[in-house]
Amino acid sequence: MSDNSFPHDSFDDLLAANAEYQKTFKYSELTGSAAKGLAIVTCMDSRINPLSVVGMRSGDAKILRNAGARVTEDVLRTLVLATYLLNVSRILVMPHTDCRMAQGDESAIHKLIEDQYGVNTSSLEFKTTTDQMGALASDINRVRSYPLLREGVVVAGAIYDVKTGTISPFEG
Ligand SMILES: [Zn+2]
Repeated sequence: MSDNSFPHDSFDDLLAANAEYQKTFKYSELTGSAAKGLAIVTCMDSRINPLSVVGMRSGDAKILRNAGARVTEDVLRTLVLATYLLNVSRILVMPHTDCRMAQGDESAIHKLIEDQYGVNTSSLEFKTTTDQMGALASDINRVRSYPLLREGVVVAGAIYDVKTGTISPFEG
């Protein structure tokens, strides 16, 4: 029998923080449209606060995140919706320095998990790379050339430096 009760032990700190957050909540007037017309595709890395990095706040931009900031089918699906329905007219693909997904090839990560946890993950494609710039170039190109994206959307890349907070424009 499955137990669907809320696991308070693991999440009560979140509920407590939210009780404080909602007291001064100031975004009730926002819509789901991206006020600054921006979407950022970035990594799940917990050192990145994508809105702060580019001087934005709630309501301004769509944030898409995954391991390695890679342009996957699901990223493309989301960008199509964002460009037609949610005011997105510019897309920044933003991987970062010191990314675990750029430090080893696919087989090395599968082996590491198998060695440490005994689980064979080879049915998953992690999309790791040892050529981060090459991967970024091809990801930018993949978005730019995607035929279903709204006409006129501008696509760029930049690398976020987790040690300095700087973003460096990618010149492909
Ligand atoms: Zn990363």
